[in-house]
Amino acid sequence: MSRKTETVDSMGTDRPEIEIRGLHKSFGDNKVLRGIDLDIARGEVVCVIGPSGSGKSTLLRCVNLLEEPTSGQVFVGGTEVTDLDVDIDAVRRRIGMVFQQFNLFPHLNVTENLTLPQRRVLRRSKARAAAVARENLLRVGLADKADAYPAQLSGGQQQRVAIARALVMGPEVMLFDEPTSALDPELVGEVLSVMRLLAAEGMTMMVVTHEMSFAREVADRVVFMDGGVIVEHGPAAQVVGDPQHERTRNFLMRIL
Ligand code: ADP
Ligand code: MG
Repeated sequence: MSRKTETVDSMGTDRPEIEIRGLHKSFGDNKVLRGIDLDIARGEVVCVIGPSGSGKSTLLRCVNLLEEPTSGQVFVGGTEVTDLDVDIDAVRRRIGMVFQQFNLFPHLNVTENLTLPQRRVLRRSKARAAAVARENLLRVGLADKADAYPAQLSGGQQQRVAIARALVMGPEVMLFDEPTSALDPELVGEVLSVMRLLAAEGMTMMVVTHEMSFAREVADRVVFMDGGVIVEHGPAAQVVGDPQHERTRNFLMRIL
């Protein structure tokens, strides 16, 4: 198999953390992804940008099998997640996802939101789940909100809880789908700070975002999608600062 980027990690394997090969996804006659090839190395942060409807969410959702690809392959940590025999739950446990809408359980407090998936999915003891919840609340700067209910938190705080909820599962990869798009402008920074911290810790991240300053500062690479294909990709400074394609230039002119 040919590979665009090769990495050597501590396990001695040489495969990228995420490998996407010839990925197509259609909904009926609507060909949403039309052949996506992308490698993401361990610890790499890739921002995906592009106009509304270009297939960004569908791409992320195909990586953790929230959508079943029409054809093509996706590997995460060397495991083919598109293999029909794969244990989908085991795959999803390794991939954290954060959405635009935080989707916290409103009737559970912050700690309960964080312990429930650990208890149900990982079968952790109550004490262990609570300890992991505390660790991760500390990580997102919300140790003092352990007993609060979602409605008592700002949007930025709720999104940080949603990130912590993904982190308690110990994912190898984090997918973010416009994590700051639903937030008031003054709350965007605190969520981006948490994401910056995760990037610095070496988390492999795929981030759909319109936050170009974040992309420039944190992303190792930026991918510009349009019409279900990757139009161009490269270092953030190159794609955002000196785009080679007309479509990329037009898009950036509209959002910057
Ligand atoms: P983006 O995130 O870039 O805005 P999406 O991946 O959400 O784009 O959507 C791309 C296209 O796929 C849109 O035309 C959308 O209507 C279609 N689409 C996405 N999800 C579904 C679905 N579950 N069923 C049918 N069509 C869908
Ligand atoms: Mg989307």
